[in-house]
Amino acid sequence: MENQYYVAVIGAGPAGLFGSRELALQGARVALFNRDIKAGGLAEYGIYPSKHTMKEGLRKQFRQTLDNANIDYYGNVTIGNHADLTLDELRALGFDAVLVTAGAQGTKSLGLPGEELNGVYHAKDVVFFYNKLPPFSQKNFRFGKRCAIIGAGNVMVDIARHLLDVQKVDEVTAIVRRGPAEVNFTKDEMKHLISYLDLDEFSNEMERVRPALQTINQDLEAGRHKILDSLAKADPKTANGKFHFDFLASPTGMFGENGEMNKLEVEDNILVEKDGKTSAKGTGVKRMVDVDTVIFAIGDKVDESFGLPTEWNEFVKNKEPRFPMDGISFESTVEGVFVGGWSRKASEGLVGYARKDGISAAKAVWQYLQTRQPGNANAEAVVAKLKGLNKPIVTKDDIKRLEAVEAEEAKKRGLEEFKFVSNEEMLQAMGLTETV
Ligand SMILES: Cc1cc2nc3c(=O)[nH]c(=O)nc-3n(C[C@H](O)[C@H](O)[C@H](O)COP(=O)(O)OP(=O)(O)OC[C@H]3O[C@@H](n4cnc5c(N)ncnc54)[C@H](O)[C@@H]3O)c2cc1C
Repeated sequence: MENQYYVAVIGAGPAGLFGSRELALQGARVALFNRDIKAGGLAEYGIYPSKHTMKEGLRKQFRQTLDNANIDYYGNVTIGNHADLTLDELRALGFDAVLVTAGAQGTKSLGLPGEELNGVYHAKDVVFFYNKLPPFSQKNFRFGKRCAIIGAGNVMVDIARHLLDVQKVDEVTAIVRRGPAEVNFTKDEMKHLISYLDLDEFSNEMERVRPALQTINQDLEAGRHKILDSLAKADPKTANGKFHFDFLASPTGMFGENGEMNKLEVEDNILVEKDGKTSAKGTGVKRMVDVDTVIFAIGDKVDESFGLPTEWNEFVKNKEPRFPMDGISFESTVEGVFVGGWSRKASEGLVGYARKDGISAAKAVWQYLQTRQPGNANAEAVVAKLKGLNKPIVTKDDIKRLEAVEAEEAKKRGLEEFKFVSNEEMLQAMGLTETV
């Protein structure tokens, strides 16, 4: 380790993995800490389960990255104020730099009445549930016959797809703040859901919102195309449920009985144009939507208890970065601590974006390292610190064993993929019930 820089990377999603690889290729030694047992982040636990080819392609790249001898993997270790190690404890180990790629683990709450009712969920939890990430995979979600999803992005589409295809619910309604022209999902995602769209109702809904769109000269047909263009490549329906849009509506509260939600209150909006942007404005007119489940798919924010200062949904960045990449600051306000991927910009972009961002963040870290001599941190001290946590720490060899057991199990059961749903089962499969 002498004369080798030693960097802590926190979070092994795409940004952390590609960032680690960049640092390792430059010659740094990397200690990669990850909350989850498995690496991959949302590529493993976010991307829709049926996208096997894409997920397997990414896993292959992640495996190759972890095989790099300059990278040590420590899974099942959470960094944060109320976690296994605080950021300060980690920094006290003497790393030359820290790169935070822990994604956006905070939850945006609108602070509406009824958020505590059973049947009210946040998208991330549901996505983690159906992608089998413990402990969400072990939680009982109550998906009623009629469900609403707040939002109009790809995550809304994924969740609607799960509810209709897998949970076989009767109806899913997307509650969309603005109009059809401002939906945020891609044609490529919508094609998986569009055959569930009730086309007659969709026409009626478009007529209902026509006057509001006309007031700002918004082209109704452009919106219609944006949504219906995916029909040409639609996946066939596999269940009988229906999907609807409810445009120009914002949630204002959830109501229920005996702790169980059964009504969503929404306020109708109009569209206004301000500084060249279209935004929604509440009309004060409220109505009830009969649903038993509501899922908020409105994006995430970074974890406020991580140990870095936050503003809005993000960690505070150094506004005058010493090592900008393409004009972007990857520097937190703490000396030697950098941010990348969804930890730099919450809920922004796909895996390709996170990869580029992680690599740029790593390049900024490397430039920073060139301004100083390697310190005296060492892997033995890191391992000793982790041993002191008295919990199983997962290494890259353990992950290989787990993957082999899961692949064997999939084969036995005739499945394309098999995943254990609890940490205990995963640890047992790796023979890791003791500490390191
Ligand atoms: C529902 C959904 C579907 C998506 N579908 C697609 C798709 O089809 N195609 C596509 O290209 N992209 C898709 N994306 C986007 C893609 O998953 C993200 O762009 C990408 O995963 C972000 O990478 P990241 O590394 O910044 O964060 P993440 O992937 O969130 O990784 C963060 C990592 O940090 C770890 N971590 C978190 N907190 C801590 C902590 N305190 N201490 C230690 N470790 C921690 C986590 O365990 C995780 O491994 C989807 C996203 C979502 C939410």
